[in-house]
Amino acid sequence: MEKPSIHYVFITGGVVSSLGKGIASSSLGILLKARGIRVTSLKIDPYLNVDPGTMSPYQHGEVFVTEDGAETDLDLGHYERFLDVDMRRENNFTTGSVYGAVIERERQGGYLGKTVQVIPHLTDEIKKRIRLVAKSAKDVDVVLVELGGTVGDIEGLPFLEAIRQFRLEEGPGRCLNIHVTLVPFIQASQEIKTKPTQHSVQKLREIGIQPDLLICRTETPLPREAREKIGLYANLPVEAVIEARDADTIYEVPLNLEREGLAGLVIRRLKLRAATPALGRWKSMVETVRHPRKSVRIAVAGKYVELRDAYKSIIEAFTHAGVANDAKVELVWVSSEEIEKKGAAALLGRVGGLLIPGGFGERGIDGKVQAVQYARENDLPFFGICLGMQVAVIEFARNVCGIRSATSREFDEDAKHAVIDYMPGQTRDLEKGGTMRLGAYPCCLRRGTRAQAIYGKDRISERHRHRFEINNEYRTALENEGLVMSGVSPDHTLVEIIELPGHRWFLAGQFHPEFKSRALKPHPLFASFVKAALAAGAPSGRKTR
Ligand code: GLN
Repeated sequence: MEKPSIHYVFITGGVVSSLGKGIASSSLGILLKARGIRVTSLKIDPYLNVDPGTMSPYQHGEVFVTEDGAETDLDLGHYERFLDVDMRRENNFTTGSVYGAVIERERQGGYLGKTVQVIPHLTDEIKKRIRLVAKSAKDVDVVLVELGGTVGDIEGLPFLEAIRQFRLEEGPGRCLNIHVTLVPFIQASQEIKTKPTQHSVQKLREIGIQPDLLICRTETPLPREAREKIGLYANLPVEAVIEARDADTIYEVPLNLEREGLAGLVIRRLKLRAATPALGRWKSMVETVRHPRKSVRIAVAGKYVELRDAYKSIIEAFTHAGVANDAKVELVWVSSEEIEKKGAAALLGRVGGLLIPGGFGERGIDGKVQAVQYARENDLPFFGICLGMQVAVIEFARNVCGIRSATSREFDEDAKHAVIDYMPGQTRDLEKGGTMRLGAYPCCLRRGTRAQAIYGKDRISERHRHRFEINNEYRTALENEGLVMSGVSPDHTLVEIIELPGHRWFLAGQFHPEFKSRALKPHPLFASFVKAALAAGAPSGRKTR
């Protein structure tokens, strides 16, 4: 039988970072997928951390968790949301993990007698991992490989060298290089500037890589003359210089790139078999994102609210849930410390719902507790995620069960009433990297609960990233006062979902549902929460206890 031919598209970036390579790569993915081509993605991160799990959100933004429990770059979230495929551990690797593997092998005697070097040992390991993605994904035609950082970074060099070798090894027609650059518009002279792009392509060529296609990020339309000029310097025909103008929503980017002929070019170059593109559902989703009929304001109370990248998947899950409700979800970011200063009523009086996302550490916890109390007492729809659920339990224990000093072991190592405590197997002394409860776990839903009605089934699977859990010693006390444990682990030892019956919508989960929301498949909890927030409508209609 003929070996199925796998093609590789490498996506590099030039001029500046944050050009949206992840969105460009995901967009190409969806355009290929719409033509019946099977795609998967890989993100390479040129930093020394083994994974982003130990980094602060200020450094890295959100840590995206895969089904198989890998802590990965947030671009994997874009891949999953756009392509509707589950990423795995192999779909993201870093300089740190590559060096780690090579050094470990050296210690085991795997290179006995040899001097271990960046070329060929590191580059071999990189190439092996790129091929591994193709191997471990079942039935794939194209692997999209995105290299983090910018061409010219010292850290990126071994990867670019590996890509150069990879192209050579695979032979002609198997690989394509797309370079994403910035074409700035200078206000003062009202001119588009192509020079940074020219330089960036030169930089790439110095390393031995001739790009096959350029995606030029611009604020304004890219005129034909500018495309010709870039093409001339970059050694490319004008149609291979593609414009990617700023879009209102990231979901529009695939449609813009389709109009620019991106997928057609890739298909012709790689000689892929492609069907007529089916983009109808995507288009109508974008239409709803752009022109929804309703709108609702939802408060998000967190620690890193000034840093939106820390909540990427939550923001996108709300976009999807908005589409499901034909509504624009306007997120109102409130810092938990601000709640402590101004009081919950001042900040939550004019929203239709409150979400408390995941997080770590004690800072801002009192503000969050106050926010939950306000939502609970004022029938304001409340959705808690991970730390958000733990805070809801602390609030309930303190204010309803009367355990005034209730807290989490995370905030007070000597707490007398740790209603949230270490999960079995977790301790303070554990190594930090990759040791939390990570990835997908099953959860059984109790009949007759809101959770079960929303999911419409008895057993679900959701992704986790935490060390702490509801302390089972307090389960009865909480339940006696009316807190319902509507989702538990199959062995009943871990509480995964809590809810309050009689409240308009009060539900929280120990897992992260936002990781499973997809552009064309909104997560049921987010969709239901947005629906409740819409129905809650004007705050004047709310009851106050
Ligand atoms: N810090 C909490 C824990 O480790 C919550 C984690 C989270 O919200 N992801 O359990």
